[in-house]
Amino acid sequence: MKTETLARLLVFGLALFLLFLGTVFLIAAFKPGKEYRFGVSIILFVMGMLLIIRLLRSKPKIVEIRVTWSPSGEITLEELRCPKCGASLPLPKPGQDYIKCPYCGTIVKIVEEPKW
Ligand SMILES: [Zn+2]
Repeated sequence: MKTETLARLLVFGLALFLLFLGTVFLIAAFKPGKEYRFGVSIILFVMGMLLIIRLLRSKPKIVEIRVTWSPSGEITLEELRCPKCGASLPLPKPGQDYIKCPYCGTIVKIVEEPKW
């Protein structure tokens, strides 16, 4: 992101420089016998304007949405013990409603307990 901003600033500076040179050539073109400078001035203006137009074109923005799972109440099974064989159960993943006991295969339901 930072390198991109720097690059855009550099291109903007270059565009301003081209427009400035174009102005200089435009003024200098009024000198008799130096009318070809009009052409140079126009080329410089067009180049500078093209750079600015490219910069002004809005780039697609990436919107990042983060969703976190926060239960309102504490999850029961704080000790996480299998009710059948008493073995300790693995921690449930967020959003997971059931844990399977790795020892006896019992499915244990996780219930959200209200805090009051
Ligand atoms: Zn078990």
